Amino acid sequence: MSTKIPWVRNPDGSPGEVWNPIIGCTPASPGCDNCWAERLHTQRHEATYTAQLQPPCYKRPFNKVRFREDRLDYPLHWKKPRTIFVNSTSDTFHPDVDSNWLRKMMIGPVHHCQPRFRGVDHKFLFLTKRSKRMVTFFQRYAEWTHGIGWPGDYPHVGLGVTVENQDYRTRLVDLFNIPAAMRFVSIEPQLDWVDIRPWLEHSRLHRPLDWVLLGAESGPNRRPFNTDWARYTRDHCIAAGVPFFYKQGHDEHGKVDHIPLLDGRTWTERPKWFFNPDKEGGAS
Ligand code: SF4
Repeated sequence: MSTKIPWVRNPDGSPGEVWNPIIGCTPASPGCDNCWAERLHTQRHEATYTAQLQPPCYKRPFNKVRFREDRLDYPLHWKKPRTIFVNSTSDTFHPDVDSNWLRKMMIGPVHHCQPRFRGVDHKFLFLTKRSKRMVTFFQRYAEWTHGIGWPGDYPHVGLGVTVENQDYRTRLVDLFNIPAAMRFVSIEPQLDWVDIRPWLEHSRLHRPLDWVLLGAESGPNRRPFNTDWARYTRDHCIAAGVPFFYKQGHDEHGKVDHIPLLDGRTWTERPKWFFNPDKEGGAS
């Protein structure tokens, strides 16, 4: 399904796709307190009680995680190169997501969408708050595929973690334990200062983060946001040469401002990885 999420764009700039074979979730950390996916699902779920017609996927409450196997092959039907955000309304590595479901997603559509098989250069983006499970899953997946599937043959898969405040920077530690062609962080909804400098620097052991997304909270119960938090991270990204995407802020009245100006311009940088199958991260 095509999406308006501004950082999910196809290489030609057209809207990218969300692919949601997993439905449902439960909170992982303070960033989940005003989860829009939960809000939307619950409205539709409650409407099923009042006989208002809703798709069957809303019959069960949001906290019942389930697998829509019928959606597995969607990416295989997309002919033009797409940027695909996987499970935009849940968390792929939620503890209730069965490992077999994950393996079916990976060994099925993700594996078969490698450019060398289909000649179509899709890019898959996984974003999670359950970073520890992501590490163990990919370690086991590499063993299961004897290292053929992961990571060497998956230059089309980007992995990211959400870090809403300093306490959850440990997710970046986990992310850096996984070899991936593109690694990114989403600081959204940003709830406080976040210092990601250790992951923007080259080290003997790893290259820096490939991409930084940042955004204020939206929705009726949005929590306060300080534009200086964005400025602080933007400056660190410039110094490190890491692409920075500023998705949304709050204006002086606290209203949500999409793709806002920051010091006279917008910041919608993306890594080269999106445009060139042979490239790892790096500024676009
Ligand atoms: S992990 Fe994402 S989908 Fe799940 S409750 Fe939190 S914000 Fe919502």
